[in-house]
Amino acid sequence: MRTGYDIVIVGAGLAGACAAALLVRHAGVEPQRIALLAGELPAASAPDAPPELRVVAISRASERVLRAAEAWPRLDQARLCAYERMRVWHLSAAPASDAGLCFDAADIGEPNLGFIAENGALLRACIDSFRAAGGRLIMGHLVSARIDADGARLQCSDGRDLCSHLLVGADGARSLVRQCAGLPVRTHDYRQLAIVATVRSERAHENTAWQRFLPSGPLAFLPLFDGSCSIVWSVDEALAPELAACDGAQFGARLQAAAGGVLGAITLASERASFALRSIAAQSYVAPRCALIGDAAHVIHPLAGQGANLGLLDAAALCEAVAGATAQREDPGALRVLRGYEQQRRTHNLVMDAAMSAFQSGFGTDFGPAAWLLDRGLSLVNRSATLKRVFARQALGTAGELPRLARARLT
Ligand SMILES: Cc1cc2nc3c(=O)[nH]c(=O)nc-3n(C[C@H](O)[C@H](O)[C@H](O)COP(=O)(O)OP(=O)(O)OC[C@H]3O[C@@H](n4cnc5c(N)ncnc54)[C@H](O)[C@@H]3O)c2cc1C
Repeated sequence: MRTGYDIVIVGAGLAGACAAALLVRHAGVEPQRIALLAGELPAASAPDAPPELRVVAISRASERVLRAAEAWPRLDQARLCAYERMRVWHLSAAPASDAGLCFDAADIGEPNLGFIAENGALLRACIDSFRAAGGRLIMGHLVSARIDADGARLQCSDGRDLCSHLLVGADGARSLVRQCAGLPVRTHDYRQLAIVATVRSERAHENTAWQRFLPSGPLAFLPLFDGSCSIVWSVDEALAPELAACDGAQFGARLQAAAGGVLGAITLASERASFALRSIAAQSYVAPRCALIGDAAHVIHPLAGQGANLGLLDAAALCEAVAGATAQREDPGALRVLRGYEQQRRTHNLVMDAAMSAFQSGFGTDFGPAAWLLDRGLSLVNRSATLKRVFARQALGTAGELPRLARARLT
């Protein structure tokens, strides 16, 4: 027997869970007609548990979206770390010198540039919000989907069949929904791995996100609520096995050297995880009765911590397109409606992807004149109040055209 819904969202990552929580509240669709198909859910952690290994830098625009989803107030605010400034420098520059770029939320009259938040906590907050509003959470994996102009028919791993007027593919980089909808992608392999870990540093992180560009890839220290930092160290495939072979103490020493000693001695405080880095861009985000959001539509290099933020903005834009259609008594699964969503998001996401690729290849050089030029460029930007404001606005996520749910005054 098939269970019918108006909207089924496949994938309860950040994009899917947030889209579900937004749609039940803002789309003008009865909440029990919206289902979220979740493969797995993150376990709840104790309030005094150490920071989760996976964290994300959430922009202020994304904070607005998570507030609209009524997820933000469900987060334990004591486990969020507001970051107030960013410091970016290149291999050849000394971190303490005036080389490189430092921009501060205070320069644009804001209390912070965003928050470092735990992935699992964000997911649980969105899912709790979705369920509290009456949405249907279904545990299981999608195994196949038939999508045509009449609707989507889905088969789940537990043998359950679902059908819906609109299918939202939020099932990540290897999206089965994308494949079933026949939406092709362009991919680029960075031939890098991102190593993620929690570390303790001799010097305080000063609520600053630190980023150093090295020839082997960028290294970021993101400040955490308990004084530790989350590192994202993107390294060329060739260097990865050497780092994996290091024990904790050796790895800490390699990190300290790679950071130019800016945070003093570094001690590993967690296990290490690594992720292969690719860029993926779906050539179209939509088909009749189907829309892709988040990593299902686009995967970018994590060097500026923007992937999840783009997915949250996708969720907001899709919710607005559906709400607009239901308000006009239009069919929200109609291609015309979904194209509106795609138009708002695809160019924005492509520009971000291109910028990340350019940063990655531009800064991944130690060639003398090129490195000198890059350092000069960063220092020049650093001396221009106007250009620094442009960078700060990018970090806030308030640059460019935003979905309405992500707008509004920040302070
Ligand atoms: C090292 C690293 C650091 C990063 N740091 C940041 C950062 O600081 N800020 C930022 O904004 N972004 C960051 N990102 C990017 C960010 O993590 C991703 O863009 C984001 O998590 C993608 O969310 P998503 O919901 O689109 O996809 P996913 O998180 O991949 O979620 C997809 C979900 O779909 C489920 N699923 C898959 N297939 C099925 C199926 N067949 N049936 C049912 N469910 C299915 C999966 O189980 C999963 O729950 C980082 C990425 C990396 C690799």
